[in-house]
Amino acid sequence: MSTSSLAERSLAAVWHPCTPMKRHEHEPLLAIDRAEGTWLYDTQGHRYLDAISSWWVNLFGHSHPHIREALTQQLKQLDHVMLAGCTHAPVVELSERLAALTGLGHASFGSDGASATEMALKMSAHYWRNSGQPEKNSFVGLAGGYHGETVGALSITDVEIFRSAYAPLLRLSATVPSPDKRQALPGESAADVARRAAAKLEVWLQQHHAHTAALVVEPLLQCAAGMVMYDPLYLRLAREMCTRYQVHLVVDEIATGFGRTGSMFAHQQAGIRPDFICLSKGLTGGTLPLSAVLTTEDVYQAFYGTDTARAFLHSHSYTGNPLACRAALATLELFEKLNALKENQELAKQLSAAFLPLTTHQRVRHARHLGMVWAWDIDTTLPNFAQCYHAAAKARGLLLRPIGNTLYCMPPYVLQAKEVQHLSSQMLAALEDCLAQEAQQYPLI
Ligand SMILES: *Cc1c(COP(=O)(O)O)cnc(C)c1O
Repeated sequence: MSTSSLAERSLAAVWHPCTPMKRHEHEPLLAIDRAEGTWLYDTQGHRYLDAISSWWVNLFGHSHPHIREALTQQLKQLDHVMLAGCTHAPVVELSERLAALTGLGHASFGSDGASATEMALKMSAHYWRNSGQPEKNSFVGLAGGYHGETVGALSITDVEIFRSAYAPLLRLSATVPSPDKRQALPGESAADVARRAAAKLEVWLQQHHAHTAALVVEPLLQCAAGMVMYDPLYLRLAREMCTRYQVHLVVDEIATGFGRTGSMFAHQQAGIRPDFICLSKGLTGGTLPLSAVLTTEDVYQAFYGTDTARAFLHSHSYTGNPLACRAALATLELFEKLNALKENQELAKQLSAAFLPLTTHQRVRHARHLGMVWAWDIDTTLPNFAQCYHAAAKARGLLLRPIGNTLYCMPPYVLQAKEVQHLSSQMLAALEDCLAQEAQQYPLI
């Protein structure tokens, strides 16, 4: 038996995501043993509040008894069967539920967010091909957009650190300005920024619509860009233009879906109907990988027939996995049982009040909040603020990972009053820890 720690063995055996491996010499891995509710417990018994919902996937806390029970029952009955030529109750029930919630239908399933993006891109381009316009096969997205990191999804992702090394592998797609409300000029509202950005989109569509299959957007909230928020007006204007220029509108609700922005889906705040919706992350409440794409009857009908060349044959081995679908159904039941969207409004008020010292901190710029997401841009000269903050927060019993100089919090929906206090006070204290380090690094003479 090995005597080295789990973290050491992990560094030897596992290629971890998102951080250059050598950095882990100074940024030790957190070896998690178990999780319950909003807390993660490491192998030494320390606990950490999961303040970013384990990368935006967890909704009702870890190991929720209702989801656990549903999974246990499902595991006794049917673990998995291929979805080609077969079907089963969990996938049918989930597809029906998602259709009722989104107003779209014909759910197709993948395992990760990126595979949902791939499906939506392929379906959109294939739709135009089936409709006699094969030249409509390019895509346009928002500056700073993030839609996953497989090669197709990365083509429409505009985050330099994920893209640059693979640029030669990627198909070029265009980006138009983000309606990021931080770009408001003095006297301008978020809606004014949205109008300006929409005017740029219009110019772009005028020139390129004949070759464009779809506009792909993260509605209201561009998470990976650094919790960029924008006015719903942009989505209304974009919807109208997409219809007029015959371009699909794909809403990537992988991060924004399932109550994160306050409504069940973010695009609903704009009162629009997209042509495609991509779902993942919170879909299973953070228990199992599952993603889905739903679309319109019009899109579906363009594929409907017996000709294999016209059909959407895309598949993954675990497409529609019964366990993952059951976890998703149990998660949707929890929204009703807990009256989650309504309760979240109350919780959000408590959190906003508790975050006030952060929001009004003299080093904070552009404090912003939407639904169950809070973000603050930190004005600091520390070259490695995100790493500093991550370490300081960890020492204070919080799991947080700022994006560049943007500190954000995206907690599970089930925080208790005591946890709200722990979260807000330790977040503020961790900021002061980093500012103290900054003062040491650059002493004021
Ligand atoms: C996380 C994310 C994805 C990718 O999902 P994965 O499961 O990580 O592949 C795509 N789009 C958005 C908006 C995301 O936040």
